[in-house]
Amino acid sequence: MHTNSPLNVNKYIFKSSGKSCVDTVNIFINRIKKNKDLNIFIELYEDESLTRAKVIDKKIKEKNAGKLAGCVIAIKDNICYKNHLVTASSKILEGFNSLYSATVIKRLLKEDAIIIGRLNCDEFAMGSTNENSVYGPVKNPLNTKNVPGGSSGGSAAAVAAELCHLAIGSDTGGSVRQPAAFCGAIGFKPTYGMLSRHGLISYASSFDQIGPISSCINTIDLFMQIVSGKDSFDSTCVYGSTDYNHNKLSDNHYIEEKVNIVVIKNTLEHPSLDKKVKEEFLILLNKLESSGHKINFKTLPLLDYLVPAYYILTTAEASSNLARYDGVKYGYRSKGNSTLIDLIKSSRSKGFGPEVKRRILLGSFVLSEGYYDNYYSKAQKVRRLIKEETDNLLLSNSFILTPTSPVLPFAIGSEIDDPTALYLQDVFTVQSNLTGNPAISVPIKRHTPIGAQFIGKSGSDSNLISFAKYIYSLCN
Ligand code: GLN
Repeated sequence: MHTNSPLNVNKYIFKSSGKSCVDTVNIFINRIKKNKDLNIFIELYEDESLTRAKVIDKKIKEKNAGKLAGCVIAIKDNICYKNHLVTASSKILEGFNSLYSATVIKRLLKEDAIIIGRLNCDEFAMGSTNENSVYGPVKNPLNTKNVPGGSSGGSAAAVAAELCHLAIGSDTGGSVRQPAAFCGAIGFKPTYGMLSRHGLISYASSFDQIGPISSCINTIDLFMQIVSGKDSFDSTCVYGSTDYNHNKLSDNHYIEEKVNIVVIKNTLEHPSLDKKVKEEFLILLNKLESSGHKINFKTLPLLDYLVPAYYILTTAEASSNLARYDGVKYGYRSKGNSTLIDLIKSSRSKGFGPEVKRRILLGSFVLSEGYYDNYYSKAQKVRRLIKEETDNLLLSNSFILTPTSPVLPFAIGSEIDDPTALYLQDVFTVQSNLTGNPAISVPIKRHTPIGAQFIGKSGSDSNLISFAKYIYSLCN
């Protein structure tokens, strides 16, 4: 049985080939070029990544290379990398060059990671299909007629098409986990405050977290060891690197320890839950039980309030965060306007896509006089109650388990005209962004675009990753 055999914990996807960094980078570059029609990469740093690979090969020979030597990473187009373009897949940031690197990027480079390019995503990370991008939709490598999920659709697709070892995404309401599930990869959203958001283009600041996607859970673990921890540029980043790295459980811990896992009963009865997703999910529950873990079924009374609270609060924060794009300071500026007001109006009207405009309007509405108390304040209170319910569930259980998405990947173009239906699909992922808890999506079965989502206690990210190692070996 899988459960009794020790996990292969020393296996890292980027260490297994035995090839030089230059050879590895060349393989990825060729594959990226061959798969251009998937529309995953917005920009390939070809010369730069090869030059860096040469330097790192030399360091490896001299035995002074960093922990990520040989690891090829691609980044979502909303994470700043000094002297590289970053646009959040929006026309409004056309031609904008980063003036500094995100803290996460700096920490990765220090350990000799190679950054190979910039990845397509939904505009300002708003969406769950990657269709809201000025660069056009990304195709799902598992079935090119389908969406890859979003908003980090390019990141998940890059991993699925084997165009890098690890891709970085951002997760405000599921944007790392849902595309990872749709593309058969692993996606992790850390506890809010575990990773610095410095250099991540803000969507909804009290929800946003950077997160890794890979097919290798050990590489995700290493990524977290390297990038987690305090940063003077982000005062909400309150966990120290020791919080991830100290008291780490042994990788085989969960083969021995049997845990209590809570399944939210009303997720299984949810009307939007696809039959096939439910079927696979029930198989997983059986496997867990027959391996000695205890499944407890509990109701989350506020389940139906998760999506409304999420969309009220995130659009409110977005309307404020996106006020800075005025066509004056940077990015796209509309021409031929005679007054400043006309210039701002016209730049914003032409620079933002329809979904971003919808959210700015919604957010301005819920913050406006007369509606603030009815919407924004109420949603804040609901958020607090959801946090309490979540913490209560985790008092006597180690993890909460749900499907990552209630649906399977669907055809590109088939749902984009119904935003409310798309919002409702976020029902299982937004909980941990509302509460700040860490959450991970692991493929339920090899080559299946269905994810199992585990939510852990705040700050217990390394335990959650250890458990995900166990789940991965149980499922695959
Ligand atoms: N689908 C969600 C949304 O559209 C998630 C976005 C995200 O996590 N960035 O807001």
